[in-house]
Amino acid sequence: MEALPENDPIPPVRLYRINAGSCNGCDVELATTASVARFDVERWGCRYSESPADADIVLITGPLTVRVRDKVLRLYGEVSEPKVTVAVGVCPISGGVFRDSYAVVGPIDRYLPVDINVPGCPPHPRALGAGIAKAATLWRERCGYTQPSPELASPGNYDGDAVAPTGLRGKMRFNAAACVGCRMCEHVCAGGAIRFDETDTGLHFTLWHNSCAFCGLCSHYCPTKALSVTDEWQMSHLQEDKYRLVEQGVVSFVPCTDCGSILLPVAPELLRVAYRETSREIERLKTLCPECRQKQSIGGIRR
Ligand code: SF4
Ligand code: SF4
Repeated sequence: MEALPENDPIPPVRLYRINAGSCNGCDVELATTASVARFDVERWGCRYSESPADADIVLITGPLTVRVRDKVLRLYGEVSEPKVTVAVGVCPISGGVFRDSYAVVGPIDRYLPVDINVPGCPPHPRALGAGIAKAATLWRERCGYTQPSPELASPGNYDGDAVAPTGLRGKMRFNAAACVGCRMCEHVCAGGAIRFDETDTGLHFTLWHNSCAFCGLCSHYCPTKALSVTDEWQMSHLQEDKYRLVEQGVVSFVPCTDCGSILLPVAPELLRVAYRETSREIERLKTLCPECRQKQSIGGIRR
């Protein structure tokens, strides 16, 4: 497209929402961006359109089910170019907790080009605002507008004064020093967001925020609370960063003080949970591998 002159008036950016089989959680949050004053996207030069043909930005919710796939792709094709596509919520980005369902054919980027992702289950309205603002900037760039919209140039309009409500579940945080490598978190995660890779040096933990449904189960079942929920809701990002939005850590192996074989260290948090008070004997046993621990315990009983 030919670049537009710098002094051209900046038109409002028009948004169109497509539901690709969503549970409606994200759609309810999107509704606030049209109906609740403090989240209203009109404050930064955007407005919702009733027709795909009139839209500039497509907001897609849901994991893309078999049932709606063709309708979604047809509607998407009706949006004129240049357009910007936003995947709203973890479902269109990765499938979320529905990712292995027979009824789901997503993630959505298998079928159409995504520009912006706004993870969450559902995302906070402020996160949606930030994602829409990024998309609007991108759309204006694609159209050749060289002047940024004054509203969009001020992030305070969509996230500057955001205070997370009490109890909001956001990004998960991992504390490798407290992890004992039981892998319970990996087992209970319905979104498949957590993976451990065992190497010669230790257990490598990865949590993909774009698969996490903020359910908090990993933290609930973690015996040492090495995983905790934060109230960080701002995670909208460009598609190129889809696989970079991760939480990582390494639980390094340590040598057994007796035989030298490697073992996972016993986190102090685990001792606090298991014993009311620690002793010299417990401190000594925690540096031993299971076999040496067993031998020494039996030796102690015999003595
Ligand atoms: S984070 Fe918690 S649940 Fe997961 S492996 Fe470590 S200790 Fe176990
Ligand atoms: S909060 Fe934990 S268990 Fe729940 S989806 Fe996210 S990583 Fe998985």
